[in-house]
Formats: sequence, structure tokens, C-alpha cells
Amino acid sequence: MSAAPTPTDPAPPADAEDAIAFADLGLRTELLGALAALGYEEPTPIQREAIPPLLAGQDLLGQAATGTGKTAAFALPLLQRMPTDRSGGDPVSLVLVPTRELAVQVSEAFHRYGKDLGARVLPIYGGQPIGRQLRALDHGVDVVVATPGRALDHIARGTLRLGSVATVVLDEADEMLDMGFAEDIEAILEHAPEGRQTVLFSATMPARIDGLARQHLTDPVRIRIEREQPVAGAAPRVRQSAYLVARAHKPAALGRVLDVESPTAAIVFCRSREEVDRLTETMNGRGYRAEALHGGMSQEQRDRVMGRLRAGTADLLVATDVAARGLDVEQLTHVVNYDVPSAPESYVHRIGRVGRAGREGVAITLAEPREHRMLKTIERVTGQRISVDKIPTVADLRTRRFELTQAAVRESLLEDDLEPFRAVVESLTDEFDLMEVALAAVRLAHEATLPGTADEEEIPQVAVRPNREARPGYDSRDRRGGTRSRGAGTAQVFIGLGRRAGVRPQDLVGAITGETRVNGRDIGSIEIADRFSLVEVPQAMADEVIRGLRGSTIKGRKATVRRDRDGDDRR
Ligand code: AMP
Repeated sequence: MSAAPTPTDPAPPADAEDAIAFADLGLRTELLGALAALGYEEPTPIQREAIPPLLAGQDLLGQAATGTGKTAAFALPLLQRMPTDRSGGDPVSLVLVPTRELAVQVSEAFHRYGKDLGARVLPIYGGQPIGRQLRALDHGVDVVVATPGRALDHIARGTLRLGSVATVVLDEADEMLDMGFAEDIEAILEHAPEGRQTVLFSATMPARIDGLARQHLTDPVRIRIEREQPVAGAAPRVRQSAYLVARAHKPAALGRVLDVESPTAAIVFCRSREEVDRLTETMNGRGYRAEALHGGMSQEQRDRVMGRLRAGTADLLVATDVAARGLDVEQLTHVVNYDVPSAPESYVHRIGRVGRAGREGVAITLAEPREHRMLKTIERVTGQRISVDKIPTVADLRTRRFELTQAAVRESLLEDDLEPFRAVVESLTDEFDLMEVALAAVRLAHEATLPGTADEEEIPQVAVRPNREARPGYDSRDRRGGTRSRGAGTAQVFIGLGRRAGVRPQDLVGAITGETRVNGRDIGSIEIADRFSLVEVPQAMADEVIRGLRGSTIKGRKATVRRDRDGDDRR
């Protein structure tokens, strides 16, 4: 070993002042175990501020939007305060939420965090058969997560009794008021015991929320995670944009964005270790050279990963905030937030990984529609605009690839010594038109430079808050509930050989056109991953292609060949 010493990347925790762990907040071991299993590395700002007072039984008024980690901020203390020796009985916690979707989501969060405590959690909302809810309530529950209307129904029937409730949470209170639940909330609170703890979270604080808080909260701790003042020095030279995308389409969206942007090297931020590992695997499966970096890795492992990134043998780093602290990699051109960060400060830290030393950088955020508000908060805090763009379509991607090919050919025309190829062209022009020869050559160049993955699914556009609005932006195919997203009349064929077997697009095209009546022109996108390939062919010819390939070899090897599942299940 010689070479100049490479800077060692600091092991977490790098920042003493930031190093507040969940354990420091006074949470019990069962909860800490659940959080570790979920791969949460450290509390978000709202969790740091809200958990201690909530554990102490104080009322709380929190201004926080979705995406800040507010659910865990109230769920963890509620679970901890739950009496341990409960068997039957009425709920001790009641969480009111505006929508059925949120009711399900919040109760799932309670389940995840409260697994080892044996917490019994029940979502109740309109639209679900009341019988099932009655039976569950009858068996006894610890936490009820309800929409106000249905909660009131059950209270009126005497099936939901609030006499034992120690804590009431009003989550997304502004939304509940907007939806006309004010009176229902008042009526529900009347049924809850006087001395209970009351917690109110709201993304905005209009006067009506203030009124609600004044009336029902006692001496509340006030928490506001956004700041009015822009964070000083927060403005590196970074182009910032965001794409709204449904959770299910995020891996495809990430692939599309990377293909269109073609970064030299990119870092993709995730919220948890678990997500880092999963996404790294997905992206490797899609043909990117991705490496994971998170707080659970040893310094040696981290150094190896950073070495690969610096050497250019990896071009995608998938990391948690903790792991990426203090990281400085010259090659990085793009930061991608796979989720909207939980606080504006974290956004600023993340995008600070690029745009250093006068270099230009790009920051891209994949936001779920419900996280739209958090984007606005970040814009306000950083004082910079984040443009919300449409996910590039398959057509955009094709256009971009043609541009790249054109640029490559142009460069070759300007620089390369082309003489050695003259004889090839001349002998071809005996038989073909010069234009045709050029077209074929460009096509070969184009195919040879295709990125490893030609992720050619159309990704549905989503509108802000699709659960509540008329979904004007939804792709029409998506609205019909279908998962089919490829071009009309095409099928995708799976071939169990990929890059590791040395397979290139031209090998697949050759095998298909050689074995079947399918013409090269009929073959659509070709995606070559490490261990498999996917080829798009006309629906009507799919069976013939499958038969043909099964009967032949590719690169001298037999391969599994079958119709691929729909793109949506392939994650
Ligand atoms: P919420 O704002 O409650 O909707 O949470 C947003 C997302 O962040 C959810 O998917 C949580 O699972 C996740 N999350 C919450 N707290 C943490 C944390 N401390 N570390 C990592 N992920 C978290």
C-alpha cells in the first residue's frame, strides 16, 4: 500500500451535540428494541423535543407536518405509559385522525413500535363493517385510532367507553377542522376524563386551532419544528427539485431520475438502515452499482465503501443521515432524498454533500403527495425554491438517451481517428445506402451505451394529497386500478441471464431475431441486470419468443425464460 492517505470518513456519531439517542430520551428497552429493529438510527427533532414531556404526562401543542416523525413522537410515549398488566378493558389511549388512510397508518405505527409490549391497537373508521370493530372493542383494546365520526358512533352505542382514557391525541387537527369535524371532536372530548393528557398536532396553527388548544389543553408544552429564519449559509450552488410520486413507484422513479440525470456519482438518503439495505438491493437488481452506508457498519466496512465510490467502481451510495455526516466525496454530483427529510436542517445537511468548493450540484427529492407540505416548510426555511417537476416519462428518457448518443457520436466525429473504419463503411456501401449504414452504426452505438437498466415503465403522475382530492393528476390507467403500465400490446419476457453472464443487448436481439420471426424493430426496451434480463416484445409474439429462446442458448448458456410479472410486483 502506498498512495496518499485518503481522508477517513468519520464513524457516527460525528457530532457530539447531535448525538442524542433514543435511549437518552428515557424510553424503555422494549421500545428501543423495536426502533433498532426498524433501523431508526436517531430521533428526529420533533421526537427529541416531544418525547420527554409526553413521558412526563404533560399536555403538548405541536406544529409539525407529515414526514417529521410526529407519529412516533406521540406513539412511543403513549406505549410507554400504558399500564403493563392490562387484560380486558377499555382503551387507555385515543388518537383522533382526519382520514381512514391515516387511521390505518397510525395504528400500524403503534403495532410496529408496541410489538414487544403486546399493545392491542384498533383502527376504527367509517366505511369498515361495524361488526368487526364491535368484536374487537369487546375483546378489549389499549389504543384506539379513530376518525371522529365513527368514534362518536361507537360512543353513542356505548361500544367505545372513554372512562379509562389517559391520553387523547388530536393528530392533523387542522385537517380535521377543515373536514368539518369540530363539533364531533368537542363531543368526544366531553366523554374523556377531566384529568387526562391531551396532545394536539397540526401542520398549521390558524386561530381555530389555537382556540381548540386553549379550551382543551392545560399548560401545554409548545413545539414547533419549523423555523421562520432561513438557516444561515444554507445556500450552496445546488439545483433543487422534487418529484411527487406514490410510494409503490419510488424505486422506479429513482431509476428514471438517475437515468435522465446521469450523475457521476450520487448519494441517496433514506430514513432507516432497513430502507438503506432494501433500496441498495433493489437498485443493484436494477443494474446500478449501489453501496449501502449506515450506522450499523464498522469503520472498516465504511472505508471500503468509500474507497469503491472514490475509485468509481460504485456510483450510487445509499445512506442514512448519521452515516453520511461529515462525508466529503469529490465525485458526488447529485443528492437524492428518497424520502422528504424529517426536518429542514437535515435537508440542508444532506444537500451540503454536493455543491462544495464552487462545484455545482443537484438535489432531488422524491416526495409522497402527503409530504408536500413538508417541502413547503423546507423552502421557507432554506429560503430557496424547490421546483416540483413531473417524473420524466418513458418518452423523456428515450429523448435523453438519444441526446447522449448524439453527443457521443459528435465527439467521435470531432476527435477520433476514424480512418481504420473506412474500409468497413466502403464495403457496406456497395450493398446499402450510406444513410442506412450510418443509421445502423448509430443504433449499435446507442445500444452499447444504454445504461444497465432500461427501466421503461410509465410511472403514474400523482397529485398532492390524492386521498382527499379528485386525483386530477392521476394517470388514467392507474385510476382504473390496473397495474399494467407498459406500451399497448407489449409483453415483458424474463431471461435468467444478465450482466454477470456477459449478456449485452445485442446478444438478446440476436438470439430473438435468430430464433423467431420477430424483427429487431419489434423489440422494445431491454433491461439487463446482474443476474437477469427483461425484454419487451409485442404481446402477440411473446409466446413465440419464449419458445424460441428456451430452445436456444445465449452466450453459450441455457437460460430460464418466462413471461415477466407485472412491473408493479417486481420490487
Ligand atoms: P410521520 O411524520 O410520523 O408520518 O413519519 C414519517 C416517516 O418517518 C415514517 O415512515 C416513519 O416510519 C419514519 N420515521 C419516524 N421516525 C424516524 C426515525 N427516528 N428514524 C427513521 N425514520 C423515522
